[in-house]
Amino acid sequence: KAKNRGGGRVEYFELFREDLSADRIALIESVRSGLENGEFVLFYQPVFLLSDTRMVGVESLIRWRRQPFDIVLPCDFITLFEETGMIHALGERIIREGILQAKSWKKSGWDSSFRIAINISPVQLLNPDFLDMVVRILDENSVSAGEIGLEFEVTESRPIQSENALNTLVRLRELGIRISIDDFGTGYSSISLLRGFPVDTLKIDQSFIRDIRHDRNARSMIRAIVTMAKSLGLSLVAEGVEFEEERIFLQEIGCDLFQGFLWGHPLPPEEVIEFYRSTLEKS
Ligand code: C2E
Ligand code: MG
Ligand code: MG
Ligand code: MG
Repeated sequence: KAKNRGGGRVEYFELFREDLSADRIALIESVRSGLENGEFVLFYQPVFLLSDTRMVGVESLIRWRRQPFDIVLPCDFITLFEETGMIHALGERIIREGILQAKSWKKSGWDSSFRIAINISPVQLLNPDFLDMVVRILDENSVSAGEIGLEFEVTESRPIQSENALNTLVRLRELGIRISIDDFGTGYSSISLLRGFPVDTLKIDQSFIRDIRHDRNARSMIRAIVTMAKSLGLSLVAEGVEFEEERIFLQEIGCDLFQGFLWGHPLPPEEVIEFYRSTLEKS
């Protein structure tokens, strides 16, 4: 209908109104109050070295502790945050919270080589204020990115080819923040992206890991990814490792790090130090 009237603008408004169903408005409302009430919290999944099984860091993962009791996973709300622009405010809190947490863990004595990976939406990279915001948070906390082993993970869920986003990544690396491509092997133009892309680490997507045990093609592809990454000087993390056979395969082919339910679920912050200590006792 809108098209018949020839106005792109009319069409836009109709789409917009359709999108704002009662459910969606209610959800946005509930997210707003959740943000105000501190219901968005970070959990932390342990990351392990494959060669000698040490825990060497964590990845932060956002959770919505929606009152009164359910925990909502990011797949149910991140898109909404991206579409409404609220991702910028949430993303800032996530970075601040992660940096504060890492700083306090450093004080309670974990290894200087420890790293903390924070997930960043590609939408955040398009924000011209993003870089300054990160610099400000580091300054406010009197830490450097290197001191706390800060890494940012970016997914290829949308193409990240924009000039500004790439510049931001370059600058972030100059600050000492390591950049990982998350869910590598899915999404947009994985391999061509690596040409001239400012990146340190590839995270092999869970979908490949899941197929290791019964699909020889998946094993071949993972081997090829490892070989390619090594020759480009990139480090490699396998995500979603659930079975010992997977871990052994990844170790044999020279993948660097892994995370997965096999050895560690995402934990609330107050359980991380104890978990870390328990891994030291085991080794
Ligand atoms: P991701 O960054 O690739 O995170 C890995 C996801 O796999 C996490 O799901 C984690 O809980 C899950 N996982 C870890 N080990 C295993 C395993 O052994 N088996 C299985 N089946 N799953 C495993 P989660 O926390 O639901 O996060 C989903 C996605 O949401 C993340 O994928 C990331 O893209 C996004 N996300 C999470 N936290 C944030 C955040 O703080 N900011 C942004 N922008 N996105 C986030
Ligand atoms: Mg991630
Ligand atoms: Mg991933
Ligand atoms: Mg993912």
